[in-house]
Amino acid sequence: MTEHGNSADTPVSGRPHRHHYDAEMLSVEEARERILSYFSRLSAMESPLVDALGQVLAEDLVATFDIPPLANSAMDGYAVIAADPADAPPDSPVELAVTGSVAAGQLPDHPLAHATAIRIMTGAPLPENCDAVVPFEDTDELERQSSAGSPANISIRLATGPGDNIRAAGEDVEAGTVVLTSGVVLRAGEIGVIASLGRNTVNVVRRPLVAIVSTGDELLQPGEEHRPGKIYNSNAYSIASMVVKYGGVPNILGIARDTVESLETVLEEALVTADLVVTSAGVSKGDYDVVKDVLASKGEIALWSVRMRPAKPLAFGMLERGDGKKVPHLGLPGNPVSAMVAFEQFGRPALRLMMGKAAVEKPSVEAIMDHPIHNHDGRRVYARVFVYRDESGVYRARSTGNQSSGVLSSMAQANGLAICPDDVGMIDKGEIARVEMLDWPDDIF
Ligand code: AMP
Ligand code: MG
Repeated sequence: MTEHGNSADTPVSGRPHRHHYDAEMLSVEEARERILSYFSRLSAMESPLVDALGQVLAEDLVATFDIPPLANSAMDGYAVIAADPADAPPDSPVELAVTGSVAAGQLPDHPLAHATAIRIMTGAPLPENCDAVVPFEDTDELERQSSAGSPANISIRLATGPGDNIRAAGEDVEAGTVVLTSGVVLRAGEIGVIASLGRNTVNVVRRPLVAIVSTGDELLQPGEEHRPGKIYNSNAYSIASMVVKYGGVPNILGIARDTVESLETVLEEALVTADLVVTSAGVSKGDYDVVKDVLASKGEIALWSVRMRPAKPLAFGMLERGDGKKVPHLGLPGNPVSAMVAFEQFGRPALRLMMGKAAVEKPSVEAIMDHPIHNHDGRRVYARVFVYRDESGVYRARSTGNQSSGVLSSMAQANGLAICPDDVGMIDKGEIARVEMLDWPDDIF
């Protein structure tokens, strides 16, 4: 991408007149493409296993030994030589002398001789000569069970073949095999596999550190006493939650007042460690919208109108740190729903790229609308909906209520954002809309 030099990114420092910020109108895809061109995969770090959940593996993992390391029993039962009870019919069981027992974690202390059996537990290594295990349920184990431990003899009621109920050495993974390749996303299964190799740490692409700055003279931090004319800062918390959800590490910084000095002070703190700075508010046309002024004075700036509803105003720039390193800054709109919807569209893919993942779109479903979605000014509408399956298993989406960009409660009730394209005036009740799922349908109850 070589978008950096275009007019939207041209520095306008030193001339803080509002008309210089006249925002270019971009589609969601155009804005996303421009923003994402500034992001790439972060460095790798060693992480404890469970902390690495959802991160991208940054090494190839090779098994240095067979898993399982020894052939072992798949059942609780009796280790036998398969030929001994080979023809055992249920009505004339074959009786074998029991010569010992072996539990998981032990090693057998003697080989198996013909016409004998060794009691064996699941996962225990096979005694020498053993080529089959007969599960307890195919013996008279229960009838013979006593407090004295293993019975002296056991009757086998079922014909047995070589290999029955045996797990071969290396059945899971053979020594020398590449078990997991650099680039895969670690889920529970992968993390289990890494542990099975004996590793308690793993190299992964590190998590992005995201500094979150809220701006606005009206804001109080949750926990502070309520005062007239003030509202609580909700954006920092919804944004931090999305950062965690998408694999980053949020750092909620203090509230910047609506002055350039205050914002610069907080940003300075934000820039110390952050891989991404996210601000909310201060990017629209109001008198005290200082985020755009500060970005403008810092060099590379882009201020766009994105053809979407909610979240039309959006700022993006590169903030310069003391050491000259540039840190991307995503300036979200202030309205709580706008901030969230814009973070889903622009912050989420940026985090994914930093984590070494593909910037794939949110999963979506097609759903029949229970309510219409109106689009009266040619912007893509993201309508807050709840997706459910009707009696015939078809996805339907109902509006979660007031769609004003300040109404966060209808976002809280939504599990998806139903889309009306920018060039479609309305999706009527009964028509099909694509719904970007905030939560994947598995989570719908
Ligand atoms: P602004 O972008 O500054 O014009 O803010 C737009 C709207 O969002 C105003 O009603 C603000 O009070 C509200 N707002 C701004 N920041 C926050 C925040 N951190 N939490 C909740 N609401 C906010
Ligand atoms: Mg404001």
